[in-house]
Amino acid sequence: MEKIKMTTPLVEMDGDEMTRVIWKMIKDELLYPFVDLKTEYYDLGLPEREKTKDKVTFDSAYANKKYGVSVKCATITPNKQRVEEYNLTQMWKSPNGTIRAILDGTVFRAPILIDSIKPAVRNWKKPITIARHAYGDVYKSTEYRPEEQGKAELVFTDKDGNEKFRQTIYDFECPGVLQGQYNKDTSIRSFAHSCFNYAISTKQDLWFSTKDTISKQYDQTFKLIFQEIYENDYKAKFEELGITYFYTLIDDAVARVIRSEGGYIWACKNYDGDVMSDMVSTAFGSLAMMTSVLVSPEGNFEYEAAHGTVTRHYYRYLKGEETSTNPMATIYAWSGALRKRGELDNLPSLVDFANKLEESCIDTLNDGIMTKDLVGLVSEGTKATAVNTLTFIKEIRSRLEKKLA
Ligand code: NAP
Ligand code: MG
Repeated sequence: MEKIKMTTPLVEMDGDEMTRVIWKMIKDELLYPFVDLKTEYYDLGLPEREKTKDKVTFDSAYANKKYGVSVKCATITPNKQRVEEYNLTQMWKSPNGTIRAILDGTVFRAPILIDSIKPAVRNWKKPITIARHAYGDVYKSTEYRPEEQGKAELVFTDKDGNEKFRQTIYDFECPGVLQGQYNKDTSIRSFAHSCFNYAISTKQDLWFSTKDTISKQYDQTFKLIFQEIYENDYKAKFEELGITYFYTLIDDAVARVIRSEGGYIWACKNYDGDVMSDMVSTAFGSLAMMTSVLVSPEGNFEYEAAHGTVTRHYYRYLKGEETSTNPMATIYAWSGALRKRGELDNLPSLVDFANKLEESCIDTLNDGIMTKDLVGLVSEGTKATAVNTLTFIKEIRSRLEKKLA
């Protein structure tokens, strides 16, 4: 069989621990035999980040900006214990944080669904994708706890020192708490563009929710910016594709999400997205089945699994024990990135390969062959055999070979 050709390189960001082991298995078993894989390789594994003083992370993000599409393996975000374990000269920052800061994007998370794993919400039939604004709000707030009586005010002074606004927040007659939050139009606009572009690229409806009836300046600003950008830049394209943009209050959205069939993108402010993405992913089944893609307003894409490096399994693997780590989300990071590369470069055979790779994964699971984490989740009466990671990947490969033959 002739291998599928690529034209533009995919930016490949390798990572750490168990996912690094799986990364190689996926390339050896599911990619190299079928695709003339063209990647620009960056090793974001912790030893290489240490060696390059984290330059490799920055380089990989700039390469993503240059080529448009990357695929990333999970990486360790160092903490104190990792500094000792890896003998680090510095507690290097989270690679995802660095990449996000350079690409200025929004993270979209969607579950992979199979028939035998029923979502906790019975009527959910299609994935619900959460788009979380990852800037500002409570994550960058200033807090104070007054322990005595006194007045709290909100004050704004312009850059020349003129006081433009002053209002009493509360006249405290007893101890209490205070919090000051902000966001920026530029960031909200980026968020909106990323969401509208992603809805177009995946041909799904876009929902957006805030609490603008209560927050008449703050949340209202989000609502108005989304509305304006939709009208000016995306309405025509949405109508052409037959998809809709829908704004509603966050509490109404929550009720509608539970009653829905799924199959849309739900854009959320930072805190709502943090909370709702955990609820939605748990209700759909497992973190190991959660895909994640960072989309920048300029149209750069970075695909990855939502889970981490699965450290506990890695330590067992190092001891020579057999591991049954689920590679699904990492395989989907590759298929997502290859499909996007194929679409951008107009390579239908690459798009077709990505689709068939995903179909082979689903077929394997539907045949009852799965990793340990999923066996406990399948509905009663489904036959399920737990296999180790390599066996699972080889099973996918044999189905893929048949589809491509
Ligand atoms: P984790 O790697 O996601 O793993 C947490 C637990 O979830 C695992 O111990 C395992 O449970 C289960 N799990 C996750 N993915 C799985 C898979 N593919 N197959 C089977 N089970 C899976 O999170 P963590 O242990 O909190 O973090 C480990 C490292 O990953 C940390 O150094 C952290 O900095 C990093 N991290 C990186 C990213 C990223 O690069 N995007 C994201 C999160 C965390 P059992 O042990 O019970 O089987
Ligand atoms: Mg959370």
